[in-house]
Amino acid sequence: MSTAKPHKNISSLIRLLTVLAFFSAIAIIALASFGMNRIYTHQVINMAEKEAILISLLLVDHSRDTLFDHNDSTKLHLKIEPLEISLLNKTLGEFLHPFDIVKIKVFSPDTRVIYSTDNVIIGEMIPQNERLMRALSGASDSHIVFKESVRDLKNETTFDVDVVETYTPIIVDGKILGVFELYIDVTKFRDEIRTGTLQSLLLLSSILLLVYIIAFGVARSGMKQVAEAEERLRNQAMIDALTGVFNRGELMSRAEEEMARVTRHGSDGDNGELSLIMLDIDHFKRVNDTYGHQAGDAVLSKMSERIKQGLRLYDIMGRYGGEEFLLLLPHTDLTNACVVAERVRTSVAEKPFTFKEQSLAVTISLGICSITPGINLTDAINRADQALYRAKQKGRNRVEHQSL
Ligand code: GH3
Ligand code: MG
Ligand code: MG
Repeated sequence: MSTAKPHKNISSLIRLLTVLAFFSAIAIIALASFGMNRIYTHQVINMAEKEAILISLLLVDHSRDTLFDHNDSTKLHLKIEPLEISLLNKTLGEFLHPFDIVKIKVFSPDTRVIYSTDNVIIGEMIPQNERLMRALSGASDSHIVFKESVRDLKNETTFDVDVVETYTPIIVDGKILGVFELYIDVTKFRDEIRTGTLQSLLLLSSILLLVYIIAFGVARSGMKQVAEAEERLRNQAMIDALTGVFNRGELMSRAEEEMARVTRHGSDGDNGELSLIMLDIDHFKRVNDTYGHQAGDAVLSKMSERIKQGLRLYDIMGRYGGEEFLLLLPHTDLTNACVVAERVRTSVAEKPFTFKEQSLAVTISLGICSITPGINLTDAINRADQALYRAKQKGRNRVEHQSL
């Protein structure tokens, strides 16, 4: 009787689920860590952009005299005289000291650098810069870049720096007069981004683990129930309900398998041996007639159990029909089959069965056929049946075997 299959299915299903859960967890965690990192980085950029906008407003206020041309009374515009550059360097250095500004540039509306803390680029035109153009149309624009080294306002070089570069328009009286570009050092937030991402991931991993444990528990017990139900159904399909031995269908298919095994191995040692024993209860009709059908049923059930207990694990017992049973004895020649049959006969005859405190003595007759080369299953069963018939004729409660 095959019971290994459902368990095998369950464990392979559990294995598949485990692999799926493992890879989905990795995918979720990888995507989440990417997402979290972006969220935290975005927060830092936003914060730096707000700071840049505030600083640029303060700068316009603080350095109004230096930044704008006051000689032209008709139109206010950015103009920094060459002589004012060193003054601006000094005042900006002092003004920006409390902030983490590493560089600052001022652009005129025609995208020319009219001031930079890095004085050498003053006067340069910036071609095709979308972010600058956006700022010139009134919108601030920030992004974060990693720099291997930067020279700050105090002319000191720092390495491995995260910088948020913000373009922000210079707006006076509702008019866009130019653009500030501020470089803010946000390296100090790097650890906070990492810690925040890590904490969120730890929380997510714990939730995932909990969900997986619960899901696995539920799936496992569900699958176990399904496997048990499957096993019950399979048993019902091959076991005779009254006697607990194989029903005729299963018996015949096992017999075919055994015949195929014997045919495959031929006379290859005891691998090629198989004996069949057909047995039938003697005068069973009388049991039914005398004690009733229920008593007959009890005898069938108890006798099957008793016979089965006397067989080897790999012997096969099935109900061939009514009160007739077939035993398949693999690796057993005729001589040994006679010994087994005699033992079976004695086990039934030596002790009566009981039903509702009634003692029911029964005997059985048995016919043996051992498989010889060239014989098929139908012939083998017929020969066992003929031997059984002879046993009946010779007075019952005895064993007969095929004539050789
Ligand atoms: P013999 O020694 O020649 O085999 O005589 P017998 O009476 O055993 O043989 P017969 O074929 O005349 O009767 C078999 C009886 O077995 C008849 C039938 O009612 C009974 N029988 C078959 N299946 C069952 C069953 O499942 N339960 C019960 N209680 N009786 C059954
Ligand atoms: Mg009978
Ligand atoms: Mg019969």
